[in-house]
Amino acid sequence: MNMSKVYLWPIFNQHFGQCVLCQEPAPLQAGFCGACRPALPAIGAAVCRCGLPSTAPLPESGLCGRCLTRPPPFQQVHCLWAYDFPLDRLINRYKHHRQLAIERALLPPWLASLPAPGAVGALVPVPSHWLRQWQRGFNPAQRLARAAADHLGLPLLPALARPRRTRHQQGQRARARRRNLHGAFTLRQPVTGLHLALVDDVVTTGSTVREASQCLLDAGAASVQVWALARTLPTRGR
Ligand SMILES: [Zn+2]
Ligand SMILES: [Zn+2]
Repeated sequence: MNMSKVYLWPIFNQHFGQCVLCQEPAPLQAGFCGACRPALPAIGAAVCRCGLPSTAPLPESGLCGRCLTRPPPFQQVHCLWAYDFPLDRLINRYKHHRQLAIERALLPPWLASLPAPGAVGALVPVPSHWLRQWQRGFNPAQRLARAAADHLGLPLLPALARPRRTRHQQGQRARARRRNLHGAFTLRQPVTGLHLALVDDVVTTGSTVREASQCLLDAGAASVQVWALARTLPTRGR
């Protein structure tokens, strides 16, 4: 038996964990090994207000075709990653199996990517319906908003409630999604005159953050930005 291995293992073990993607040893702080971290699908540059990257240069308005037809109520969607392989698997494990090691791995790069504070005065998490939150045991949007608020030294403002249970947005057609979400959010706290960042885990179609932003603006918020880990790209057929 190689005794040096036996003696070194506890020291090694203190500083190393497993990569959340490939399970190879990875620095405990990082959560990812050196190979997996760069493999996460970063969202491209030239991003429209809706958070979607554009392959062609955007027109002077800075808006993609969809946003020109239906201008979003929010000022800007800010996502670090595209909701694509292998990040989609990771976020699924985080959301549906409450694997907090994934949250610990994703938080540092996401927090570092957030816009500098100044334009935003408070962070509002996108709420889940109580039943969904109970089933999952937590609300990822709430945890992300809390982490971002602490990181930026801004208040967390749980200003929205979701009294009605809405069907999953995925797979529904645009018009059905809008109908499904209409009036899904209600106000719990005043937001008059505030510049807000609405925080969600993933922006899928944009319908949820549209509806939630509209609710905040109708209540007198001065502006709303949307911050999320990832954005679903339309090429995925949704
Ligand atoms: Zn790895
Ligand atoms: Zn757009």
